[in-house]
Amino acid sequence: NGPIIFAITPTFKRPSQKAELTRLAQTFLHIKNFHWIIVEDSNERTKLVTNFLSESGLIYHHLNVATPRNFKLKKSDPHWKKPRGIAQRNAALTWIRKNYNATTNGVVYFADDDNTYSVKLFKEMEKIKVIGVWPVGLVGGLMVERPICDNETNKVTGFNAAWKPERIFPIDMAGFALNLKVVIEKKDAMFSYAAPNGYHETTLLEQMVTRDQLEPLADCCTKVYVWHTRTEPPTLRDEQQLIKKGLKSDANIEV
Ligand code: UDP
Ligand code: MN
Repeated sequence: NGPIIFAITPTFKRPSQKAELTRLAQTFLHIKNFHWIIVEDSNERTKLVTNFLSESGLIYHHLNVATPRNFKLKKSDPHWKKPRGIAQRNAALTWIRKNYNATTNGVVYFADDDNTYSVKLFKEMEKIKVIGVWPVGLVGGLMVERPICDNETNKVTGFNAAWKPERIFPIDMAGFALNLKVVIEKKDAMFSYAAPNGYHETTLLEQMVTRDQLEPLADCCTKVYVWHTRTEPPTLRDEQQLIKKGLKSDANIEV
Protein backbone atom coordinates (compact mmCIF):
# COMPACT_ATOMS: atom_id res chain seq x y z
CA ASN A 1 0.00 0.00 0.00
CA GLY A 2 1.35 3.44 -0.96
CA PRO A 3 1.44 6.46 1.34
CA ILE A 4 -1.60 8.60 2.06
CA ILE A 5 -1.27 11.71 -0.08
CA PHE A 6 -2.41 14.72 1.96
CA ALA A 7 -3.08 17.62 -0.40
CA ILE A 8 -3.57 20.99 1.32
CA THR A 9 -5.66 23.45 -0.69
CA PRO A 10 -6.44 27.01 0.44
CA THR A 11 -9.52 28.33 -1.35
CA PHE A 12 -11.63 31.48 -1.32
CA LYS A 13 -14.99 32.63 -2.63
CA ARG A 14 -14.97 34.12 -6.13
CA PRO A 15 -16.91 33.60 -9.38
CA SER A 16 -14.57 30.85 -10.65
CA GLN A 17 -14.27 28.96 -7.34
CA LYS A 18 -16.56 26.04 -8.17
CA ALA A 19 -14.96 25.63 -11.60
CA GLU A 20 -11.48 25.50 -10.02
CA LEU A 21 -12.58 22.99 -7.38
CA THR A 22 -14.30 20.84 -10.00
CA ARG A 23 -11.16 20.65 -12.12
CA LEU A 24 -9.11 19.72 -9.06
CA ALA A 25 -11.53 17.16 -7.66
CA GLN A 26 -11.80 15.35 -10.98
CA THR A 27 -8.03 14.99 -11.12
CA PHE A 28 -7.82 13.89 -7.50
CA LEU A 29 -10.48 11.19 -7.99
CA HIS A 30 -7.83 9.31 -10.00
CA ILE A 31 -5.39 9.21 -7.07
CA LYS A 32 -5.24 6.26 -4.63
CA ASN A 33 -5.05 6.96 -0.88
CA PHE A 34 -5.80 10.61 -1.44
CA HIS A 35 -6.89 12.86 1.46
CA TRP A 36 -7.89 16.39 0.51
CA ILE A 37 -7.48 19.01 3.21
CA ILE A 38 -9.38 21.98 1.94
CA VAL A 39 -9.15 25.19 3.94
CA GLU A 40 -11.54 28.01 3.19
CA ASP A 41 -10.32 31.57 3.62
CA SER A 42 -13.46 32.62 5.49
CA ASN A 43 -14.99 32.94 8.94
CA GLU A 44 -17.38 30.11 8.17
CA ARG A 45 -17.38 27.04 6.01
CA THR A 46 -19.58 27.97 3.05
CA LYS A 47 -22.54 26.01 1.74
CA LEU A 48 -21.00 25.87 -1.74
CA VAL A 49 -17.79 24.17 -0.62
CA THR A 50 -19.56 21.97 1.97
CA ASN A 51 -21.99 20.60 -0.62
CA PHE A 52 -19.31 20.35 -3.25
CA LEU A 53 -17.10 18.21 -1.01
CA SER A 54 -19.90 15.96 0.17
CA GLU A 55 -20.79 15.17 -3.45
CA SER A 56 -17.17 14.89 -4.59
CA GLY A 57 -16.55 11.22 -3.82
CA LEU A 58 -13.21 12.17 -2.25
CA ILE A 59 -11.93 11.61 1.28
CA TYR A 60 -11.63 15.12 2.66
CA HIS A 61 -11.29 17.29 5.74
CA HIS A 62 -12.95 20.68 5.53
CA LEU A 63 -11.40 23.48 7.57
CA ASN A 64 -11.70 27.25 7.53
CA VAL A 65 -9.72 30.21 8.77
CA ALA A 66 -10.01 33.79 7.60
CA THR A 67 -6.88 35.63 6.49
CA PRO A 68 -6.17 38.41 9.02
CA ARG A 69 -7.80 41.58 7.68
CA ASN A 70 -4.53 43.52 7.29
CA PHE A 71 -3.13 40.77 5.02
CA LYS A 72 -6.20 40.34 2.81
CA LEU A 73 -5.80 41.44 -0.82
CA LYS A 74 -7.93 44.37 -1.94
CA LYS A 75 -9.49 44.32 -5.43
CA SER A 76 -7.11 47.10 -6.48
CA ASP A 77 -3.97 45.35 -5.21
CA PRO A 78 -1.70 43.49 -7.61
CA HIS A 79 -1.87 39.80 -6.64
CA TRP A 80 1.76 39.58 -5.53
CA LYS A 81 1.35 42.39 -3.01
CA LYS A 82 0.08 40.26 -0.12
CA PRO A 83 0.79 36.64 0.78
CA ARG A 84 -2.03 34.24 -0.12
CA GLY A 85 -3.02 31.04 1.66
CA ILE A 86 -0.62 31.40 4.61
CA ALA A 87 -3.07 31.08 7.52
CA GLN A 88 -4.94 28.35 5.62
CA ARG A 89 -1.87 26.17 4.99
CA ASN A 90 -0.79 26.62 8.62
CA ALA A 91 -4.24 25.53 9.85
CA ALA A 92 -3.88 22.37 7.75
CA LEU A 93 -0.38 21.65 9.14
CA THR A 94 -1.73 22.03 12.68
CA TRP A 95 -4.64 19.73 11.85
CA ILE A 96 -2.34 17.04 10.43
CA ARG A 97 -0.05 17.22 13.47
CA LYS A 98 -3.02 16.85 15.80
CA ASN A 99 -4.60 13.93 13.96
CA TYR A 100 -1.65 11.87 12.71
CA ASN A 101 1.69 10.68 13.99
CA ALA A 102 4.89 9.48 12.37
CA THR A 103 3.67 5.87 12.22
CA THR A 104 1.38 6.79 9.31
CA ASN A 105 2.95 6.41 5.89
CA GLY A 106 2.11 9.74 4.26
CA VAL A 107 3.15 12.61 2.03
CA VAL A 108 2.10 16.26 2.38
CA TYR A 109 1.65 18.49 -0.69
CA PHE A 110 0.45 22.10 -1.03
CA ALA A 111 -1.99 22.09 -3.96
CA ASP A 112 -3.31 25.57 -4.80
CA ASP A 113 -6.77 25.53 -6.31
CA ASP A 114 -5.91 27.14 -9.66
CA ASN A 115 -2.92 25.04 -10.75
CA THR A 116 -3.07 22.13 -13.19
CA TYR A 117 -1.95 18.72 -11.93
CA SER A 118 -1.09 15.57 -13.86
CA VAL A 119 -1.96 12.28 -12.18
CA LYS A 120 1.67 11.33 -12.87
CA LEU A 121 2.80 13.84 -10.24
CA PHE A 122 1.10 11.88 -7.47
CA LYS A 123 2.77 8.62 -8.59
CA GLU A 124 6.13 10.38 -8.17
CA MET A 125 5.22 11.52 -4.65
CA GLU A 126 4.92 7.92 -3.46
CA LYS A 127 8.73 7.69 -3.55
CA ILE A 128 9.40 10.54 -1.11
CA LYS A 129 11.49 9.70 1.97
CA VAL A 130 12.14 13.26 3.18
CA ILE A 131 11.39 15.85 0.48
CA GLY A 132 10.69 15.37 -3.21
CA VAL A 133 11.20 18.16 -5.76
CA TRP A 134 10.30 18.50 -9.46
CA PRO A 135 9.84 21.08 -12.23
CA VAL A 136 6.87 23.47 -12.28
CA GLY A 137 5.65 24.81 -15.61
CA LEU A 138 4.73 28.46 -16.27
CA VAL A 139 6.10 30.00 -13.10
CA GLY A 140 8.86 32.35 -11.98
CA GLY A 141 8.79 34.13 -15.33
CA LEU A 142 9.91 30.96 -17.13
CA MET A 143 8.38 28.19 -19.22
CA VAL A 144 9.65 25.85 -16.53
CA GLU A 145 11.33 26.51 -13.19
CA ARG A 146 13.22 23.46 -12.01
CA PRO A 147 15.95 21.93 -9.88
CA ILE A 148 19.08 20.99 -11.81
CA CYS A 149 19.62 17.27 -11.37
CA ASP A 150 22.88 15.37 -11.95
CA ASN A 151 22.14 12.24 -13.97
CA GLU A 152 25.07 10.26 -12.55
CA THR A 153 24.31 10.82 -8.87
CA ASN A 154 20.58 11.65 -9.14
CA LYS A 155 21.22 14.59 -6.78
CA VAL A 156 20.08 18.22 -6.99
CA THR A 157 23.09 20.39 -7.80
CA GLY A 158 21.29 23.73 -8.20
CA PHE A 159 18.24 25.47 -9.64
CA ASN A 160 17.46 27.30 -12.86
CA ALA A 161 15.34 29.95 -11.06
CA ALA A 162 15.66 33.47 -12.49
CA TRP A 163 13.27 35.12 -10.02
CA LYS A 164 14.89 35.69 -6.59
CA PRO A 165 17.55 33.05 -7.25
CA GLU A 166 19.26 33.96 -3.98
CA ARG A 167 16.62 32.00 -2.07
CA ILE A 168 18.02 28.86 -0.41
CA PHE A 169 15.09 26.90 -1.86
CA PRO A 170 14.02 28.78 -5.02
CA ILE A 171 11.02 26.49 -5.44
CA ASP A 172 7.33 27.26 -6.01
CA MET A 173 4.67 25.89 -3.65
CA ALA A 174 3.73 23.35 -6.34
CA GLY A 175 7.30 22.09 -6.75
CA PHE A 176 7.82 19.99 -3.64
CA ALA A 177 6.17 17.58 -1.20
CA LEU A 178 7.27 16.34 2.20
CA ASN A 179 7.16 12.97 3.88
CA LEU A 180 4.60 13.11 6.70
CA LYS A 181 7.36 12.11 9.16
CA VAL A 182 9.17 15.40 8.49
CA VAL A 183 5.99 17.43 9.01
CA ILE A 184 5.39 15.62 12.32
CA GLU A 185 8.99 15.76 13.55
CA LYS A 186 9.53 19.43 12.63
CA LYS A 187 6.43 20.25 14.63
CA ASP A 188 7.08 24.00 14.91
CA ALA A 189 7.74 24.61 11.22
CA MET A 190 5.11 27.00 9.84
CA PHE A 191 4.51 29.51 7.08
CA SER A 192 5.00 33.08 8.22
CA TYR A 193 3.44 36.44 7.35
CA ALA A 194 6.83 37.90 8.26
CA ALA A 195 8.49 36.23 5.26
CA PRO A 196 9.11 38.67 2.40
CA ASN A 197 7.13 38.34 -0.85
CA GLY A 198 8.36 35.24 -2.66
CA TYR A 199 10.07 33.75 0.38
CA HIS A 200 7.17 31.69 1.78
CA GLU A 201 8.30 28.34 0.39
CA THR A 202 11.97 28.81 1.29
CA THR A 203 11.09 30.07 4.78
CA LEU A 204 9.08 26.91 5.51
CA LEU A 205 11.62 24.56 3.96
CA GLU A 206 14.59 26.10 5.77
CA GLN A 207 12.87 25.09 9.04
CA MET A 208 12.50 21.48 7.90
CA VAL A 209 15.22 20.25 5.56
CA THR A 210 18.63 20.99 4.03
CA ARG A 211 19.45 21.23 0.33
CA ASP A 212 21.39 17.95 0.32
CA GLN A 213 18.19 16.12 1.34
CA LEU A 214 16.29 17.10 -1.83
CA GLU A 215 15.11 14.05 -3.79
CA PRO A 216 14.79 14.90 -7.49
CA LEU A 217 11.73 13.24 -9.06
CA ALA A 218 10.05 13.33 -12.49
CA ASP A 219 13.00 11.69 -14.32
CA CYS A 220 15.78 13.70 -12.71
CA CYS A 221 13.60 16.83 -12.99
CA THR A 222 13.21 16.61 -16.77
CA LYS A 223 9.42 16.14 -16.85
CA VAL A 224 6.70 18.70 -16.13
CA TYR A 225 3.72 17.25 -14.25
CA VAL A 226 2.33 20.46 -12.70
CA TRP A 227 1.66 23.90 -14.14
CA HIS A 228 1.22 27.18 -12.28
CA THR A 229 -1.82 28.17 -14.32
CA ARG A 230 -3.86 31.21 -13.26
CA THR A 231 -7.48 31.84 -14.12
CA GLU A 232 -8.51 35.15 -15.61
CA PRO A 233 -11.28 36.69 -13.51
CA PRO A 234 -14.51 36.75 -15.56
CA THR A 235 -15.74 40.28 -16.33
CA LEU A 236 -19.45 39.70 -15.52
CA ARG A 237 -19.86 43.08 -17.21
CA ASP A 238 -23.49 42.57 -18.16
CA GLU A 239 -24.67 41.10 -14.88
CA GLN A 240 -25.64 44.57 -13.55
CA GLN A 241 -28.07 45.07 -16.45
CA LEU A 242 -29.90 41.89 -15.49
CA ILE A 243 -29.85 42.69 -11.78
CA LYS A 244 -31.56 46.05 -12.49
CA LYS A 245 -34.34 44.13 -14.23
CA GLY A 246 -34.51 41.64 -11.37
CA LEU A 247 -33.09 38.92 -13.60
CA LYS A 248 -29.79 38.12 -11.86
CA SER A 249 -28.45 35.26 -13.99
CA ASP A 250 -27.55 33.02 -11.07
CA ALA A 251 -30.63 33.58 -8.90
CA ASN A 252 -31.30 30.10 -7.45
CA ILE A 253 -28.53 28.61 -9.57
CA GLU A 254 -25.16 27.75 -8.09
CA VAL A 255 -22.36 28.50 -10.55
N1 UDP B 1 -6.17 32.17 -1.70
C1 UDP B 1 -6.87 32.35 -0.51
N2 UDP B 1 -7.28 33.63 -0.17
C2 UDP B 1 -7.04 34.73 -0.96
C3 UDP B 1 -6.30 34.52 -2.15
C4 UDP B 1 -5.88 33.24 -2.48
O1 UDP B 1 -7.13 31.38 0.22
O2 UDP B 1 -7.44 35.84 -0.59
C5 UDP B 1 -5.75 30.80 -2.07
C6 UDP B 1 -6.03 30.45 -3.54
O3 UDP B 1 -7.32 29.89 -3.68
C7 UDP B 1 -4.92 29.46 -3.87
C8 UDP B 1 -3.77 29.92 -2.97
O4 UDP B 1 -4.35 30.71 -1.92
O5 UDP B 1 -5.27 28.13 -3.55
C9 UDP B 1 -2.74 30.75 -3.72
O6 UDP B 1 -3.38 31.90 -4.27
P1 UDP B 1 -3.18 32.33 -5.79
O7 UDP B 1 -3.41 31.16 -6.67
O8 UDP B 1 -3.99 33.55 -6.04
O9 UDP B 1 -1.64 32.71 -5.76
P2 UDP B 1 -0.63 32.83 -6.97
O10 UDP B 1 -0.91 31.72 -7.93
O11 UDP B 1 -0.90 34.16 -7.56
O12 UDP B 1 0.69 32.71 -6.31
MN1 MN C 1 -2.31 30.35 -8.25
